Amino acid sequence: MLLQNRAVFALGVRMCTTHASKRTLVETRPSSDMSEFRKVFSEAKHIAIITGAGVSAESGVPTFRGENERWRKWQSQDLATPEAFSRTPSRVWEFYHYRRELVMNKKPSAAHLAIAECEARLKKQGRSVVVITQCIDDLHRQAGSKNVLKIHGSLLETRCMSCGHVTLNKRSPICAALKDKGAPGPDVPDAQIPVDKLPRCEENDCHGLLRPNVVFFGETLDSHILTKVEKEMEICDLCLVVGTSSIVYPAAMFGPRVSARGIPVAEFNTQTSPKTEYFMYHFQGPCGTTLPPALAQHESEIM
Ligand SMILES: [Zn+2]
Repeated sequence: MLLQNRAVFALGVRMCTTHASKRTLVETRPSSDMSEFRKVFSEAKHIAIITGAGVSAESGVPTFRGENERWRKWQSQDLATPEAFSRTPSRVWEFYHYRRELVMNKKPSAAHLAIAECEARLKKQGRSVVVITQCIDDLHRQAGSKNVLKIHGSLLETRCMSCGHVTLNKRSPICAALKDKGAPGPDVPDAQIPVDKLPRCEENDCHGLLRPNVVFFGETLDSHILTKVEKEMEICDLCLVVGTSSIVYPAAMFGPRVSARGIPVAEFNTQTSPKTEYFMYHFQGPCGTTLPPALAQHESEIM
C-alpha cells in the first residue's frame, strides 16, 4: 500500500513539474479565483469532498493533534493506540467517553451545512457529492449528509474485541461506571474502572470488552471503506480538500492523486498545506466562511 502510494506520489510530482515548466512562476501557484472555481463547480457531475479536523474545529470539537490539546498529561498519540488500550483500557475509555460526550453536545458548522445542502440540491439534478472524512464525530450526518465515508471510524460506534460486532451506540454515559468520569484536567486521577465494568458486548452471550470503533495510531484502515474511496477518487470530476493539514496518510494523498489525473482539486483551509502546490485552487480562511459561497447554487443550475 505504502509503495503504491509512493509510486502515485512520484507520478504526481512528475506531472506537476512538467505542467509547471510550461507556465510562469506566478501561474504555478494555485489560483484563488472563485468565479473560475464556480464555473468548474457548475459543470461537475461527481464531486468528492475530503474533510479533516478543521471542519469539526469550527464546531468546537478539539482535534487532539496539537501540543496544547492534551487530555490530562497525555496527547492523543499516547492513548489512541492498541497498546495503550490493552494496557490501560479504563484510561483509554475515560478519554473516549470524554470525547463522545463532547461531540454529542456540538452542532454542525456552516461548512458541514453547506456540504449537506449541496449534496441534497445536486442529487435532484442527477449529480453526486460524496464526503470522505477523517473526522470521527457525527457532524456530517447531523448536518444531513447521506453519502459519507468515515475512513478513521466513528466515536459513536463500538466494536467488540471478542466477536467483532460493530454497532452504533449513542448512550450517555456509555456505561454506569463511566458516569461523570473522563474529566480532562492535568491533575485528575485515573478512575481505574475494573475491566468487567467497562462497556461490554450485548450480542447474544458474548459479553466481550468493547472498544471505540475508531482507527488507533498504528492500525490499518478498513479495506472495505478504502475500496469505496478508491472508486470515488476514480470517478470524481471535481475534488475539494477541506479543513485538513494533508499530513495524515493515506488521506493526504487522495487530493494529489486526483490532481495527477488532471482533475481540478480545490483546497479550503486556514493555511497552505504540504500538498497545496499540487492543487488547482486554494481558498484561504475558515472553511465555514469560504465554503458556503463556493458550494451555493450556481446560476446555471436547473431546479
Ligand atoms: Zn461481542
